[in-house]
Amino acid sequence: MWAIFRGERRRWLAAVAAVLLLAAAVVLAAVISSVPPAAGPASSPSATDNPTAPATASPTGSPSASTPATAAPAPSPSKALVTSPGATVPAPPASATPPVVPAPKPPAPAPKPPAPAPPPFPAALAGLDIEVIPGAGAVVALTFDAGANSAGLPSILKTLAAKGVRGTFFLTGNWAAANPAGVAAIVAGGHRLGNHSMTHPGFTGLSDAAIGQQLSAAQQAIRAAEGPRPLFRFPLGDRDARTIATVNAYGYLPVRWTVDTLGWKGSSGGITAQIVADRVLARLQPGRSC
Ligand SMILES: [Zn+2]
Repeated sequence: MWAIFRGERRRWLAAVAAVLLLAAAVVLAAVISSVPPAAGPASSPSATDNPTAPATASPTGSPSASTPATAAPAPSPSKALVTSPGATVPAPPASATPPVVPAPKPPAPAPKPPAPAPPPFPAALAGLDIEVIPGAGAVVALTFDAGANSAGLPSILKTLAAKGVRGTFFLTGNWAAANPAGVAAIVAGGHRLGNHSMTHPGFTGLSDAAIGQQLSAAQQAIRAAEGPRPLFRFPLGDRDARTIATVNAYGYLPVRWTVDTLGWKGSSGGITAQIVADRVLARLQPGRSC
């Protein structure tokens, strides 16, 4: 739904509304502090589970699901060097009296890793790029990625409010910095925020340290009481085991998508509300609990 923010918002909002109407209910993508579904469920069963349809195109158009690990592992932020070369002991004076050797200084403590300590999510979810909300039942979670403009945001928020639906908005730090009022409006609407990196790079090409910088910078830029932790969405869906582990180490739980509505293409890309609705409905499957 990336392109919601790029314009064509009238048609797109119709698409969003259609999705909302068709969805059984919305559960925020939060796994830990799950938000109770606000919308009445539709008659048809729905779920976020879709094991047969892996995420396809990324919000910005690069189909990059399951990108294999290509980047050489970079030094982990948790690794620290012991910097103290060791205190030198002065040579004892040449005298008959027992030399007084100054006590060597204790080695300097190793720098602490930047990553926060315990992940604020269940350990069982570590290593996953979540596609199904554990135990959520027959619900659909709506998520929006914001990284371009904010043209469609007011209408989107209005539609969600009118339908009594809450969603999760994954924001890039750049977007948040450029749209502080938008961030506030999202929070005021009762929606959850997630971290979508600072500049939206592909993560598998980043070192662990660079990933940490992306996360931290975005977290600072978003600066909302509601988040963005612990939710994170990989830009372009570009992730592998290493990057997931690194994101976990920084206290984030990656959340993926089950159905790519292709809404990010916008009506200028040939996407209509009907196409969006059809794609969602065709891929709804009973969820699973775990
Ligand atoms: Zn994105």
